[in-house]
Amino acid sequence: MAEINRAVKGTNDILPSDSHKWQFVEGKMLETAELYGFKEIRVPVFEHTEVFLRSVGDTTDVVQKEMYTFDDKGGRSITLRPELTAGVIRSSIENGLVNGALPVKVCYIGGCYRYEKPQAGRLREFHQFGVECMGAAAPSADAEVISLARQILCNLGIDDISLEINSIGCPECRKKYHAALKEYFTAKTDELCDTCKDRLERNPMRILDCKSPICSGIAADAPVVIDYLCDDCAEHFEGVKSHLSAAGIEYKINPHIVRGLDYYTRTVFEFVSGDIGAQSTVCGGGRYDGLISQMGGPSVPSLGFAMGIERLMLAINNKGVELPDAHTPDIYIAAMGENAALKATELCAVLRNDGLKAQTDICARGLKAQMKYANKIGAKFSMVLGDDEISSGKAKLKDMEKGNEREIALDEISEELGEEIRAKIFEQIAETL
Ligand code: ATP
Ligand code: MG
Repeated sequence: MAEINRAVKGTNDILPSDSHKWQFVEGKMLETAELYGFKEIRVPVFEHTEVFLRSVGDTTDVVQKEMYTFDDKGGRSITLRPELTAGVIRSSIENGLVNGALPVKVCYIGGCYRYEKPQAGRLREFHQFGVECMGAAAPSADAEVISLARQILCNLGIDDISLEINSIGCPECRKKYHAALKEYFTAKTDELCDTCKDRLERNPMRILDCKSPICSGIAADAPVVIDYLCDDCAEHFEGVKSHLSAAGIEYKINPHIVRGLDYYTRTVFEFVSGDIGAQSTVCGGGRYDGLISQMGGPSVPSLGFAMGIERLMLAINNKGVELPDAHTPDIYIAAMGENAALKATELCAVLRNDGLKAQTDICARGLKAQMKYANKIGAKFSMVLGDDEISSGKAKLKDMEKGNEREIALDEISEELGEEIRAKIFEQIAETL
């Protein structure tokens, strides 16, 4: 029975005291993406398991260890999405987006599900914002997508970030590289974990991002793919670097980035934050030129990234970035007695119709308790209604922060309060300038 009062391990609630931060962050993401022409797409939380096996890859940690997979009552194998790219690509093919004018630029926000060991910055339900840019092969596309990710992070006040990039080549370069990796790891087969022993045959590159300390120790000295790029891939990577420089973006080349999902080709990148602990990668992405055709669509070179919103929140909180809360009520109307309560209901209706945030007592409490509550919820203004106010048609509008009051006519309440709220906003802007 204890379970009914406890969230499932690795899941978090987003409480009313924090939801404004999420709304602000998500708003900034969508707003910034719009500057680059990305439009939101929403896809289901679950897909046929095959969608992830085909795209993410069946030798990845995500597929081998982390997926929430079950049979539904109709006997279909269903998986809760561990990431959104696979579903977005499935949808883009199914709905013909990739057959129209290219590039197609989409972005998404949504929950992801991975059976991982929960710790700070690593959850079983977490949220990603991401983009997919489909049908753009030129290096300028890579720079544009990276530039968007960077702008979002900066707009959220996360400026202690570094960008690390690498190229993992195309299937052509991969052939030579796989052979070199196989040779390197075969000499150390006995030391590898069981999963990696199997990967050695099927996909030796996956050993490079194994989380086991022994495998990652061995992987540290393995050959790096950037030394095996074919001429086209090398030239593409040079182009990406030039366009990043043209956009004024600093980067570091990290030949060890391979990314944990099989679909990547050529450019891969990560943004690492100095403001959070061990799980410091806040954003990861790259190019996936073969994915759309691999999933049954046309050959459309594409790329994207995903950022973990919980990790961004950690960075924002650790840095002490203040995110605006637009939810505090404009006014709390306290009422003494039944007539005043009716008047308060009437005035709240007027105010809300005019787009002002108004609250009044709905617990039939005394005046003292009402004012205590008005303070607690951070009402900007308050007003007390009693028989005198109702008969005179006037009441005092109190600025809760400054403590000063001024009398206003009740039948002009929206105009008067609107004016006060605008004055407050101007004051705040003046302070920040
Ligand atoms: P990691 O190496 O930390 O496991 P990953 O390579 O598995 O990350 P991606 O699949 O690239 O991560 O997902 C993109 C982003 O989503 C990550 O950079 C991170 O910010 C976030 N993320 C991934 N897994 C989790 C998780 N379990 N909990 C919270 N955020 C996550
Ligand atoms: Mg992972």
